[in-house]
Parts: sequence; structure tokens; C-alpha cells
Amino acid sequence: QEDHFKKVLSHAKEYGYVFQSSEIYDGLSAVYDYAQNGVELKKNIRDYWWKAMVQMHENIVGIDAAILMHPTTWKASGHVDAFNDPLIDNKDSKKRYRADVLIEDYCAKIEGKINKEVDKAAKRFGDAFNKEEFLATNARVVGYQEQITTILARMGSSLSNEDLADVKLLIEELEIADPLTGSRNWTEVKQFNLMFGTQIGASAENSTQVYLRPETAQGIFVNFLNVQKSGRMKIPFGIAQTGKAFRNEIVARQFIFRMREFEQMEMQFFVKPGTQKEWYDHWKETRLKWHLSLGMGAENYRFHDHDKLAHYADAAADIEFNFPFGFKELEGIHSRTDFDLKAHEEHSGKKLQYFDHEENKSYTPYVVETSIGLDRMFLAIFSNSLVEEDLENGTTRTVLKLPSVLAPFKAAILPLVKKDGLPEVAREIMEDLKWDFNVFYDEKDAVGKRYRRQDANGTPFCITVDHDTLVDNTVTIRYRDSMEQKRVAIADLKGIIKEAVAV
Ligand code: ATP
Repeated sequence: QEDHFKKVLSHAKEYGYVFQSSEIYDGLSAVYDYAQNGVELKKNIRDYWWKAMVQMHENIVGIDAAILMHPTTWKASGHVDAFNDPLIDNKDSKKRYRADVLIEDYCAKIEGKINKEVDKAAKRFGDAFNKEEFLATNARVVGYQEQITTILARMGSSLSNEDLADVKLLIEELEIADPLTGSRNWTEVKQFNLMFGTQIGASAENSTQVYLRPETAQGIFVNFLNVQKSGRMKIPFGIAQTGKAFRNEIVARQFIFRMREFEQMEMQFFVKPGTQKEWYDHWKETRLKWHLSLGMGAENYRFHDHDKLAHYADAAADIEFNFPFGFKELEGIHSRTDFDLKAHEEHSGKKLQYFDHEENKSYTPYVVETSIGLDRMFLAIFSNSLVEEDLENGTTRTVLKLPSVLAPFKAAILPLVKKDGLPEVAREIMEDLKWDFNVFYDEKDAVGKRYRRQDANGTPFCITVDHDTLVDNTVTIRYRDSMEQKRVAIADLKGIIKEAVAV
């Protein structure tokens, strides 16, 4: 798995998907740029989401709110007081770590120790060794295991000093040093606010502290009544938005999984109080279906229902995806009650209520939200699609099996040779197709090499123009995943590609 992750990183760079930000200055930690292919894939994911959420729902509309908002927004939402991650300082190295990730590392080390004990015993007992029996009768080893399970279960942003104390005891007993620094000299767990602050105003005395939004949702809440009235929306209805969000994340080593500047795709669905559970279940199911529609394997998704809830929620679940480093949160579905609208009413002094004509009364709607990171979705798709295949002739090929609907380029047009009028015909096909699809032209190198380049780029079709084309107006179409080649009429190309990329 670790190896696969390394391949993902190098492939993303080599094939123009993702670059480190400001690379010539050695980069900026946890900030990335999307390259020529990456920007297309990212746009296609965004469009795929928008189409499913906005275009397909007549009761969901979109907005594009500003990144900078009135600072009271973040007081009302709870972000000023409670948007924290647990942090641990290391006294020796003067470095800071995100506590839950550090402890995850320790737990991995402890597990390594347990495995060593098991291995030792296996050697000692030879054929007679039974692992289950050994674990069942060896209290010390089982004790470690139980402790790890408890600590891991408690992990997350609510990690406390007691968890840290438990881990410290375990480490001492097992004589494990800090996996990152080799030292055991920590301070306690502190809470660290993740919002990026900046100032509006020309001079220091007259400036106002503002924040870069840490989530797009609040732009929707403060506009709730504007949208409802101007769009004459009737409850239940939704407001969707995609856009940048910023978090000063402490740990920054999972590529585009956890970034300091990232993009969210969120939808807030406003419902009648009392119906939130039903809508929460509805959106959990609908969002999972959306993921499954991309064909990346049902076994790679699972729900994680939250026991501990955020201050604003009465139910919450994550859709987790099997990333190269294990199952992690990809999307959150949250039943946010009327917390946000009520808080904004209180802080702004303005009513944010809905008048229900059928019931002839006003109320503050409840909200069910779906929130997914565009960059995380990108990583999920990219890492899942990257495969290395052993071919019958003993060679291997690298292929990026992106869902066709999301691929940056739908087809590459390749003249077999750079003469005899073939490039001209290829160009004509290109001119015709480019009105409907993003297509790529390539005439350099042998055609086999060009096929491989397109496989690695994720292009679902290669269209090759050869001498027969001049005679009968047919071309060879090669399918990326099966490598199958077919002879088809130029006139049929549009239909074939359209069918493959249809949603
Ligand atoms: P995590 O527990 O991984 O920090 P979160 O629970 O804080 O995530 P939410 O606040 O619910 O995340 O945000 C919704 C979605 O936004 C997440 O499911 C994730 O896909 C995405 N997201 C959150 N933080 C980041 C980040 N730093 N980089 C990239 N995507 C992010």
C-alpha cells in the first residue's frame, strides 16, 4: 500500500496532474497546484457533482459566496471558540504534531511490538504454535492490544490529556521512542485553532481582523433567506456551493488528502423541523449511490456513524474510502439541526425564518448537509484508477483507468505516420470532435509508444488514422482498458465517445 502511494505521488507529477506549490522554492507545506491534466480532472469531478446535485434536483440551487465574510459569522458558527485540533509540542525538537496522528504512529509501533512477540513465540513453539491461543493466554500481549483499541476508539479531535497519559505509560513499558523524533519529551495536549486570519483595511489602527473561510457552509446559511425569497423556494429545498476553504492544518503529509488550501463541494438542505432524520437517511443513501455510480468498487466505501457529535449536530456519518493509506473520511453527512440559522439570528439580530404557507406559520428550518472535499475525491479517483498491468508479452503497462466521464481528455487523435496526408486527416477529425469533447493530438514517436502515453494519461480512446483511412474513411479506435482495437467509420466516432462518457 505504501508503495502504491509513492507511485501515485510520482505519477501525479510526471503526467501533469498535481505539482507541489512553489516547488522551485522547495514548496509550501500542504499546498498544491493542479497541472494541465489535473485541472481538467478536477473540473470534471466538480461538474459531475454539480450536475447530480443541482441540475438533477429542481429544488436545489447553487450560489458562489465570497471567501471573506463578516468576522461575526465565525463567532456565530462556533469556529472562533471551537474549531480546534489537538496539538502536542515536542520539547526537544521544538516541533508540533497533531496529537491524534502522533498517537496513531505510536499505536502502529506498539502493534509492531506485539507482532514481534508473536513471531518470537511462533519460532519458539514451531509447528505447535497457535496464534489465537497464544494471544488468549498471554495477558500482557492482550493487554497491549486492548489498550491500543481503546485509544484508537477515542481518537479524533476530542483527544484528551488522559489519552496522552495512557499512551505515555504504554510507551514507557514497551520502551518505544517517538517515531518522528526519537524522543519521549512531550508537553500536554493543547487545542489549536485552525482558522487563517488576515486584515482588511489600510492602516494598522483601522484594520479589522477577518478570516479565510474554513468551510463554505456559512456562506449558504447567511444567504438562506435571500435565496429562499428571490428564488421563491419552498421547503424542503437545498443550496449548493463549491469553492475554496482554508485550514491551518498541523499535520501535512498525506498529499492532497489534507491541505491548507482546498476546495469543498457542499449542499445544505433546509427541512421542516421533525423531518430531519428522514432527510438525513435519504442523503446518506443518495450520496453513497453517487459514489458507486463511478464504478470504483462498492468494497472501497463504508459508512462511519459518529457516536460523538459536534456541537451543532444531532446525527453525523462519514462516507469513508479505501485510500492508499487505509479507510479515511471522504465525505460527511451531517444533520445540523437549526443550530446555524439560530446562531446567525442571534448574532445579527435579523430573523432567518421561513413562512410555511401550508401550515400558516413561521419556523427556523432544520438543515441536513452533505460535504465533500474535491481534492480528496480527486485523490480517491486518481489512486484507485492507477494500476500496473502485467501483459501477455511479459512487459507491464501503467494505466490510469479513470471513469471516462471524468477523464481530462476523452480521445487522442494519432496519425500513424507524419506524412502522406495522414496528419491532415487527423487534424480534420480533431477539428470536428473538439466542439463536443476535450481531444488531444499527438504525432510524435511510434504509435505503440503513443498508446502507452495515453494509457498513463487516462485517455479512454485512441483514434488512429492510417493509409486505409484515405480510402474508406474508417479509423482504428483503441480502448484504453481492454486494449481492444476496432475499425469504425469516422462518422460514427462522435456517437461512440458520447455513449462512453454519458452519465
Ligand atoms: P478531517 O477529520 O479529515 O479533518 P473534517 O471532519 O474536519 O475532516 P469536515 O469539516 O466535515 O472535515 O469537512 C468536510 C469535507 O471536507 C471532508 O469530508 C473532507 O473531504 C474535506 N476536507 C476537510 N479538511 C480538508 C483538508 N484539510 N484538505 C482537504 N480536504 C479537506
